Amino acid sequence: MPLPLTSAYYLAPGPETGAARVVHSDKCQVMPREGAEPLGAFESCAPALQQARAAHRDVNACALCCPACYVGSPEFEAATA
Ligand SMILES: [Zn+2]
Repeated sequence: MPLPLTSAYYLAPGPETGAARVVHSDKCQVMPREGAEPLGAFESCAPALQQARAAHRDVNACALCCPACYVGSPEFEAATA
C-alpha cells in the first residue's frame, strides 16, 4: 500500500495582535494542539501557506516542521544553512 503523499496542516491559534499566525504540519512536535485550526491536507507546506494566507494576512510557517516555507531572519538562515 503506497504511503499517502499529503500531510494535514494546521494554523496555530493567534497569539497577541500583530504577531503572525503559524502553520504546522500534523507531525509537528511543537504545535499547540488546543485551538489549532485545520487547513486541510496538502502535498507540501506551500499550498497550506497559500490557504492560510487567503484567510489571514500575516502568516508564517513553523521553522521546525515546515522549514521549506519558513520565512525567517537572516540570522536563522545562517544558523541552519
Ligand atoms: Zn511546526
